[in-house]
Amino acid sequence: MTNATRLPVVTIDGPAGAGKSTISKQLAARFGLVYIDTGAMFRAVALTAREQGIDWDHAEAVETLAETLNLTFLVKEGERRISVNGHDVETEIRQPAISLGASKVSAYGRVRAHLLKSQQAMGEAGGVLLEGRDTGTVVFPDADVKFYLDASARVRAERRFAQMPEENRPSLEELQEQIEARDRADSQRALAPLICPEDAHRIDSSNLSIGEVVEKMASFVEGWQKA
Ligand code: C5P
Repeated sequence: MTNATRLPVVTIDGPAGAGKSTISKQLAARFGLVYIDTGAMFRAVALTAREQGIDWDHAEAVETLAETLNLTFLVKEGERRISVNGHDVETEIRQPAISLGASKVSAYGRVRAHLLKSQQAMGEAGGVLLEGRDTGTVVFPDADVKFYLDASARVRAERRFAQMPEENRPSLEELQEQIEARDRADSQRALAPLICPEDAHRIDSSNLSIGEVVEKMASFVEGWQKA
């Protein structure tokens, strides 16, 4: 019997702007996996804290709030959208200001523990693709196929820059500094830091198109299916 009879747990970790979301959606669709954007969950905690007037630097207050939140993904017009206690916040969490908050609240132990439980519950039956910073190290250390997707900070800043509307857009240099600061915070924190899992396929997307990365990853998933 080969692995072809069951659906895998696939993880994709890596720094901000490496193309993880676009690639994850395409790869998940190709193999019929449910896509779980773990970063959206940290963003939702940061957004709700801000809406309730809770300072992102106030660890205990943020942790206590996070434990009251039920974060789920709802499907609307074929797109998975995150909701907080049943309220769709997918659009709001994508504001650039929320990225910094997500990075801050993701360093807090009780926030991570609360989200970890639901991430593991969502994937326990298999057939999922998780994307984030610690999905192959902490959430599913025994995942079937793991990837670490990287790209140079310059290339990641250029990609983000090209996606942003021109009005109120920071300069390319500012954007690169923001990306590097978030990388530093995510890889130097004590809990579940961003690292490449030992058994991950490491792919540098600096000189590859989205389609090329998806093909490369798909060949590893197919290899697992045949094993
Ligand atoms: O991937 P995204 O940029 O939406 O993630 C926002 C922030 O959430 C990251 O900068 C990181 O601090 C945090 N995060 C995390 N662990 C994950 C996913 C995201 O700490 N698995």
